Amino acid sequence: MNTSTQGDTFLINETPYTSVFIPEEFDEEQRMIRQTCEDFLKTEVYPNLDRIDAQEAGLMQHLLDKAGELGLLSVSIPEEYGGFGKNFNTAMLVTDAVGAGHSFAVALSAHTGIGTLPILYYGSTAQKGKYLPRLATGEWKAAYCLTEPNAGSDANSGRTSARRNAEGTHYLINGQKMWITNGGFADVFIVFAKIDDDQHLTAFIVERGFGGITMNPEEHKMGIKGSSTRQLFFNDCAVPVENMLSERGNGFRIAVNILNIGRIKLAAAAIGAARRVIDQAVTYANERMQFGVQIATFGAIQHKLAEMAVRTFAVESAAYRAGQQIDDAYGTLSAEGMDDAQAKLKATERFAVECAILKVWGSEMLDYVVDEGVQVYGGMGYSADAPMERAYRDARINRIFEGTNEVNRLLMVDMLLKRALKGELDLMGPAQAVADELMAIPDSGISEDAPFIREKQLLVNLKRQYCWSPGPR
Ligand SMILES: Cc1cc2nc3c(=O)[nH]c(=O)nc-3n(C[C@H](O)[C@H](O)[C@H](O)COP(=O)(O)OP(=O)(O)OC[C@H]3O[C@@H](n4cnc5c(N)ncnc54)[C@H](O)[C@@H]3O)c2cc1C
Repeated sequence: MNTSTQGDTFLINETPYTSVFIPEEFDEEQRMIRQTCEDFLKTEVYPNLDRIDAQEAGLMQHLLDKAGELGLLSVSIPEEYGGFGKNFNTAMLVTDAVGAGHSFAVALSAHTGIGTLPILYYGSTAQKGKYLPRLATGEWKAAYCLTEPNAGSDANSGRTSARRNAEGTHYLINGQKMWITNGGFADVFIVFAKIDDDQHLTAFIVERGFGGITMNPEEHKMGIKGSSTRQLFFNDCAVPVENMLSERGNGFRIAVNILNIGRIKLAAAAIGAARRVIDQAVTYANERMQFGVQIATFGAIQHKLAEMAVRTFAVESAAYRAGQQIDDAYGTLSAEGMDDAQAKLKATERFAVECAILKVWGSEMLDYVVDEGVQVYGGMGYSADAPMERAYRDARINRIFEGTNEVNRLLMVDMLLKRALKGELDLMGPAQAVADELMAIPDSGISEDAPFIREKQLLVNLKRQYCWSPGPR
């Protein structure tokens, strides 16, 4: 297997810089797509942030419709279903560019990601044919209903039930879902429920028009106030049997695989949000005068701006590198003859550890950036009349949804060790090599004089420590 298309190997292998994708390599078309997103935010979203946060009736739907007209909802949808069929890293680019859009970014991501992708990856031909063209244009908006009042991080413990009716034509869904993004206006819901006494969830495509769905008023949230978040109640909601997604009992697998994609995309959105905060903080630091000079001339402020940029750059580098690896893995699997949707899923699954790492590091990077953004603005950072206050509140959710950061931290180690135990990842070989090395004369490793050689050696040593820690002691 080509190591660049196998996940997790960053821990044990050296990666030649020539094999790492950097955003500067995006082509003309991808840059134009990025520009379209930025123009959209400038004209449609930024001037309306207060109206969006006030949840002005119909506004979010209208914005999603306009985004649909520009093709921003259909980047990943194949051309045969009315989309552009672009690769994974182009979808990452759109998520990054739109990521600065506060609540709008959340609504768009929920629609194009967790709302649409289950159908794209697991739907039958008939399901794809019926739903994807409408989701691609935004004619129908989507939501994803996994969480329940008593089933959050432990998502498979949900109690929502599905029972086949006497005629065998429909499943009757009963239960309660919580925190559903786009819940207030979505037309299509991906609903996870347990059939009869099943241990595992099954996924269903549920249309609002099926009836039997009621909801609570909008949640009052700390941030992303413009994003619709509802509790939904299913009361004998009759779902045609052909609307089961994939197979009975496969729901948890669907949920996990879709969340993998959501996690790396969350990091992409965090990059876009952080970039905007840095732009605003730099502008403010150059305008604000204290002690007769611009505050940008103070070392303490320069340090903040630099650290904000450093962390954003690190997440950007890692996110697009992993995005390209997912694309490369997909290419390899497709060439081996794997079905298109399967190959896309499998490629992301291989990089599930990277997705979890990026979710954690991206969300924590953004929280750092917005916190320092508030600090650069001083008292104005605390004012709702300046942009940092909203950025600060809106960022916080990222450490909670798409799997909390605590759960993602557990997952990344768990997945890594499981792969090592299954023999898919050779952690023992490198660990033994480090053990042997420790018994020999220490090698500083710095044998050449080239740019970044010390930084590179630091990384090599860091990786050796990781391999050694769980090693044969
Ligand atoms: C604004 C918003 C939008 C959302 N949108 C959606 C949506 O569209 N669809 C959807 O299905 N869900 C959605 N969610 C739900 C979200 O995914 C959950 O809130 C999240 O998974 C955490 O679940 P919980 O809130 O029940 O917290 P809990 O699971 O109760 O966790 C509470 C605390 O315990 C920690 N914890 C839990 N288990 C462990 C463990 N094993 N080890 C260590 N620590 C642990 C958590 O990290 C957390 O700090 C949304 C939530 C919010 C707030």
